[in-house]
Amino acid sequence: MQSAKKLYIETFGCQMNVNDSDTMVTLLRELDYEPVDNPSSADLIILNTCSIRAKAEQKVFSELGRMKRFKTREKRVILGIGGCIAQQEGEKLLRRVPYLDLVFGTHSLHLLPDMVRAAEKGERPVQNDFLDPEARLDLFPRKDVEGGVTRFVTVMQGCDNFCSYCIVPYVRGREVSRRSGDILREIGEMADAGVKEVTLLGQNVNSYGLKSVDEPDFAALLRSVSAIEGIERIRFTTSHPKDMSPDLVSCFAELPKLCSHIHLPAQSGSDGILERMNRGYDRKDYLARIGALKAARPDILVTGDMIVGFPGETEEDFQETLSLMEEVRYADLFSFAFSARPETEAARYPDELTRREKQERLDRLQSLQRSMTMEMSRGLVGTIQEVLVEGTSKRGGQLFGRTSGNRIVNFTGDRSLVGSLVRVTIVEAMPNSLLGEKA
Ligand code: SF4
Repeated sequence: MQSAKKLYIETFGCQMNVNDSDTMVTLLRELDYEPVDNPSSADLIILNTCSIRAKAEQKVFSELGRMKRFKTREKRVILGIGGCIAQQEGEKLLRRVPYLDLVFGTHSLHLLPDMVRAAEKGERPVQNDFLDPEARLDLFPRKDVEGGVTRFVTVMQGCDNFCSYCIVPYVRGREVSRRSGDILREIGEMADAGVKEVTLLGQNVNSYGLKSVDEPDFAALLRSVSAIEGIERIRFTTSHPKDMSPDLVSCFAELPKLCSHIHLPAQSGSDGILERMNRGYDRKDYLARIGALKAARPDILVTGDMIVGFPGETEEDFQETLSLMEEVRYADLFSFAFSARPETEAARYPDELTRREKQERLDRLQSLQRSMTMEMSRGLVGTIQEVLVEGTSKRGGQLFGRTSGNRIVNFTGDRSLVGSLVRVTIVEAMPNSLLGEKA
């Protein structure tokens, strides 16, 4: 009996890419490939890439260089690239990387088995066409429903917002909302397989259904997911403030299964910069939505994204960002220095700040956030939190899980608790996690 061929996938960037990589594993099983976690033994190596920032792109090209050594005269290894850089660069990649065998874009996942078959015959296929939204409705990632306690479920893809700094609309295409029937069916199967928590995923998840006449909007979808037996917790990411409707906010007051955490990127605290970013809201709007969410769910924890050093950002603008952080009291924040992305509007703006000036602002912002995160974590010491146990932690012999507020908790307990909601007393706060004792 011939042993399975070995597949190694390296995934860069967002959870959407992680989900796509899971789908690649499912698709390539039909060609008898099984995943391995070391490229040195692989017959097929795939880099699933991200191009959200210049740094991410540089990382991919150095990784392609590293993978070259696995292609030897003795062993024919196929090297492929997928994801946003493949979508962005397409054919050019074959010229730039002569030892690359195949290139598939963000709308070509379904073609991967045929492309690998062609590469096995020595061809160098490239596919990075954009598909019409209708054509993509049947192409949403579907992966084998295996157990596990938590799962991500893609509910929509693409983005129509064209924030001036963002490459996503150019590499992921127009927004498409998946059929709600398919979503609910997949989550039902997951619940039957023992999954307790689902995270609904999309670049702009809360604009779900807004463009389609047959589908419910996001608040209605959440209510339907909440009715699925066996699912005990629901999360979603990433939201856009302009689509945070009053009805969606009321879901936090209405649906106990909806977790007490919202990821709501502001990107800046300055109205002038928000306008140049084409974000579609101002500081007052943003704070009004945060206020409404906190009124609907008083223990809600908020996380966000911030960009510093956007073209034209003055020290005053930057101070507006810091003061917004103080006002919102984020539990945590993803923060980046502006880097111009190809094709985007902001790539045409004069980028006056030096790399050092941007880094200096980023350091100030991250130091403020670290102190606020620690203060928030210390505030949880002595409280009893409901933790969904996801598995055994790296901290010898302990279990780990997350609070409804999405904080990681480690505590001592029996493995049989994996998959259960356990009441845990928080006894210590660490920079990125909490230590607890079973209550
Ligand atoms: S909402 Fe803006 S930042 Fe988010 S994916 Fe769309 S264009 Fe990019």
